[in-house]
Amino acid sequence: MNNSGKKTALFGGTFNPVHLGHLRAAMEVAQAFEIDEMVFIPSNTPPHKMPEVLADSADRFKMLQMAVASVDGWSVSDVEIKRHGPSYTVDTVKGFLEKMGKEDTLFFIMGMDAFAEIDTWKSCEELFGLVSFIVMARPGSRLNVKLETSPDMGPSTDLGATHGTKLNISMNRDTGAKGRRELAQMLKQKVDSGYKIKDKTDVQAGGRPAGKVGSIVHESLKPVYYIDVTPLDVSSTRIRKMIVKGESIKYLVVEAVESYISTKNIYR
Ligand code: ATP
Repeated sequence: MNNSGKKTALFGGTFNPVHLGHLRAAMEVAQAFEIDEMVFIPSNTPPHKMPEVLADSADRFKMLQMAVASVDGWSVSDVEIKRHGPSYTVDTVKGFLEKMGKEDTLFFIMGMDAFAEIDTWKSCEELFGLVSFIVMARPGSRLNVKLETSPDMGPSTDLGATHGTKLNISMNRDTGAKGRRELAQMLKQKVDSGYKIKDKTDVQAGGRPAGKVGSIVHESLKPVYYIDVTPLDVSSTRIRKMIVKGESIKYLVVEAVESYISTKNIYR
């Protein structure tokens, strides 16, 4: 990977609210890819899913700010919440690219569950030519993808893939190699058949065993990276449900976020 310019990673999501699953995953990506700037981008209204309770965008923004304040190089952007209506990643990515230098690299981070829906995104193909995605394993998410075996993906019997069979894949049992293979299949099916797994990875996950980070390359589109982050089975949905039931969310979110939710009585 070209190391000369600045590396910026965008992490988009609803962040309703931000939790330790988001933050730890972002930290591991930042270390593995030597990211200089990590920008969290809360969406205005999620284009793909509408949760039962969506906290005010100003509150979601504030909670993110409190959660990332202590990390150098991490910030929160209000670019999407300032837009009216649904926010589209392609517009956000173009906005950041315009401000970047030639040597700089832009990444977009997301979990495997969100990535599985990428073909429903606006200008999906264009997006893959603009930005390198970093896809993180996410525990507990069950993907329902139609896998088709293909010779260059290597043996996929451990995925239980049968030609054209609908499968549920538990990300809990994922490993670097498996996840990378699954991601490559998804890219071939949903984006372009020209994606190939690269044998040797050119990024190292700091302190993590080799094979946890891998790349999938295409001759004209940006590479897509896969990373097996520490599995933390936390979701915003679960946190909202716990709040409704009056359960403690301590140690699932940062303390300032916990106090903010409690003081402002959000999600009740
Ligand atoms: P909800 O439960 O409301 O759907 P969420 O917990 O999935 O929310 P989002 O704000 O939708 O959170 O997630 C933003 C991004 O972070 C997505 O790409 C998602 O896959 C990823 N993500 C969320 N939680 C985790 C986690 N525990 N580990 C790894 N990635 C995660």
